[in-house]
This record gives sequence, C-alpha cells and structure tokens, in this order.
Amino acid sequence: MKFNIATIPGDGIGPEVIEETILVLNKIGEIYGHEFSFQEVLAGGIAIDKTGKPLPEETVEVCKNSDAVLLGAVGGPKWDTLPGDQRPEKALLGLRGALGLYANLRPAVLYTALKEASPLRSDIVEQGIDICVVRELTGGIYFGERGRKKEGKMGEEAYDTEAYSVGEVERIARTAFEIAMKRDKRVTSVDKANILESSRLWRSVVVEVAKDYPEVALDHMYVDNAAMQLIRYPQQFDVIVTSNMFGDILSDEASMLTGSIGMLPSASLAEGNLGMYEPIHGSAPDIAGENKANPIATILSAAMMLRYSLQLDKEAQVIEEAVIKVLEKNYRTGDIMSKGMTLVGTQEMGKLIVGELK
Ligand code: NAD
Repeated sequence: MKFNIATIPGDGIGPEVIEETILVLNKIGEIYGHEFSFQEVLAGGIAIDKTGKPLPEETVEVCKNSDAVLLGAVGGPKWDTLPGDQRPEKALLGLRGALGLYANLRPAVLYTALKEASPLRSDIVEQGIDICVVRELTGGIYFGERGRKKEGKMGEEAYDTEAYSVGEVERIARTAFEIAMKRDKRVTSVDKANILESSRLWRSVVVEVAKDYPEVALDHMYVDNAAMQLIRYPQQFDVIVTSNMFGDILSDEASMLTGSIGMLPSASLAEGNLGMYEPIHGSAPDIAGENKANPIATILSAAMMLRYSLQLDKEAQVIEEAVIKVLEKNYRTGDIMSKGMTLVGTQEMGKLIVGELK
C-alpha cells in the first residue's frame, strides 16, 4: 500500500526526532511492503521566519490531502516576544481547527524497564502502567459562551460555559469504544454528573453508545475521584474518555505518572481516518541540535499513526515492541538515563530501534 504522510518537523529538536522517525517508517515499509511518501511542510517558528506566518495555507492544504500528519514540535525563545496571534503555537490551534481534530488521544505508558522514572512508589508501578486518555477537543468550557458582567453578587463577574450536545458526546464516546476494542476493552467515562447538567447528558449518551460495544466494560467516575484513583491504583484504567477541560488536566496527570516527557506520544483524530500525530513534549531549545533528544515519543506517535490512521495494527505493534527491546537492552537517552545504563544520542537511539524491527 502507498500512504501520503505530511511531515512538520517544526523547531528545536523537532527536525531531529522526525528524522529518526522517518527512518523507522521507511524500514517498516521495506519489511511489510508499504510505500510511505513524505511531504515536508512548514509550521511554527521556522514558518514565521520563511513566510511571515506560523501556519502557511500550503501547509494546511498538504495536511488536508494527506493520509496522516506527523509533527515534531514548534516554538522557541526566538519567537517568544511576538504577539499572541503570530506565535508558533498558533499553528497547532490552526491545524486542529482546519483538520477538524476532535479527539485527543494521550497514552500514558510506563514500561517496566523504566519504572524507576515514575514518581509513584515502586509497589504501585510494579506491573507498569498502560492508560489511554481520550479527551474531547473541540467543545466544552474552552469553546462555550463567556463574558463579564459589571454587576455581580460581589462586584464585577466573569463566566465561562460548559456545554455539550448529544452529537459531540456520541462522537467522542464512539472513538473511545473503538480504541478500547483495540486495547483491553475497558472504558471509564469521567464526568461530574453529581453536579453538572452537561455531565448528566454526557453520561446518558455514553451509556447509549456503550450498547453498540457489548464486549467493552464501561464504568463511570467523578473527576475528583478519577484524579485520586490515577495515583492510588493506575492499573484499574484502560481507556478514560472525558470532556475537554477534565481531559486537559487528567491527561497531564496521567503522563506525570510515567515520569518521562521524552517517551510520550499523542494523536489527534478527525472524522474519517485523518489524524495528526506528535510527541507531547515541546521543542526543547535547551538541547536542540546536540543529538541529545529522545526520539521515542515521536517514534511511538508514528506507531499510533499506523494503528489509527493507516489501519496497520501489526506494524504499529512491531514498532512498540522494538522500543521495549531497546530499553530492555539498557540503552537510554539523557532524559531517561540512570545508573548502569548505556547513554546514547538521538541518532543512535533511532538506529537501535530500526535494528530491532522485524
Ligand atoms: P519542552 O517539552 O520543550 O521541554 C521541557 C524539558 O524537557 C526541557 O528540559 C527539555 O530539554 C526536556 N525534553 C523535552 N523533550 C525532550 C526529549 N524528546 N528528549 C529529551 N529531553 C526532552 O517544554 P518547554 O521548555 O516548556 O517549551 C519549549 C518550547 O516548546 C516553547 O516554545 C513551548 O511553547 C514549545 N512547546 C511546544 C509544544 C508543541 O509543539 N506541541 C508543546 C509544548 C511546548
């Protein structure tokens, strides 16, 4: 099969981690008989320097016409003083909007080889952690009606509104159940249905969608309890599906459990098969160009791309297993280095992973 992938290396360590990821995908193509055609486009600081805009129209067009988008990272101190709407990060919001990305997938995986990196007690993380937070990305309080009133109860008042429609919840719930079908078949829907009307609607829609997935076990949890349970007993979770704001907070909490920013991939999905795949870390200007960045988060993002946009489950798994093998052979980049391990750079880590692909 032939697939068109738009690549956005971006700024800082972005180009370094994307380069290693392309080597991994090319090797997968070679082994399994696929052709990945990469078209590199500009976004972020480099786009500002070359075109005056953080997200040129050409980039949006190429991304829309691709099977998937693979992004490194954008931003850096050089562009920090620009006004808000001209900053590199604007490119990310622009891409979300233009591509209709409504579901944000944030896996938090703690490999047993790296369990000492977790801030949790060793007996809690003994069996590792494998959670996927599915966050609704285009609705809720971040997009609801907001404003200010001069005369509130105790002076000027400001308000933001949490609103969800049946269609929005149905769409994200369906995504979560589909993902659960590819994992351990458990979904926890997180809400605040004891207080919020929008959460009561959320819960009733999730219950309806669940009827189409009899193999998946569904439970519900209030967000405050979910925040505690993630720390107390993270293995109870497989897929967590939740609203934009709750997901924003819980996905960061879940990633902290794994303790290593250079290891964590993410995906943002549109309707149909299009998706944008990127590591959760930023452009790490402090180590850019020094061959120190960990490429694993981006390589695992590419594995998610194979699984969710290109329907290449087996190939995705092969990449994930290659990463585990390299970690089990005790190779580490600086961010996950510990005593007795072998320190490697970005390029060496990429080569080691390519070498484990079967
Ligand atoms: P950051 O994630 O870039 O870096 C935080 C720390 O983690 C740094 O010490 C960095 O060296 C380290 N780190 C990050 N990724 C690493 C990797 N792959 N391997 C090894 N070490 C790694 O966050 P920041 O410093 O707050 O932001 C730097 C720039 O990135 C800013 O301009 C910010 O706006 C931007 N940013 C972009 C994105 C994105 O593109 N999605 C996300 C977050 C931040």
